[in-house]
Amino acid sequence: MATEKYQLSDAEETLTIGKCDFCYEEGRYLKPLHDKYGDHVLDQCFYGCEDKRSVPNEPKENFEIISIVETYRSYCHDSKWKISIKLNDKVLTMNLTRLHSENEASLREKIVHCRNRHEIKRLNLYVFHN
Ligand SMILES: [Zn+2]
Repeated sequence: MATEKYQLSDAEETLTIGKCDFCYEEGRYLKPLHDKYGDHVLDQCFYGCEDKRSVPNEPKENFEIISIVETYRSYCHDSKWKISIKLNDKVLTMNLTRLHSENEASLREKIVHCRNRHEIKRLNLYVFHN
């Protein structure tokens, strides 16, 4: 099946998709730009505004959620989840970190709206423990 052969690069797996601050197009793979203090200030098309590769061409996949299991919950920062989905008769398992406020129902709602496994992986958050 075509969707099985479809492969994103390692970078594309983790890129955010959104609006570019240079060409104002929505739905682009983004490269975050930081100022000299390290603060995130702008987003630019990852491969450049004119490059077709900046436009995600990810097929919709018909996956089925098998299970959403909470594996860890910290005192106040984050929660960790193990997600299993069935795609093309194969079971895929992925681990996601979400905010402490996440629960099984709210996470299921977000996963249901994902178009494919890459979007599910992008729900992973890096929660800063200060
Ligand atoms: Zn752009």
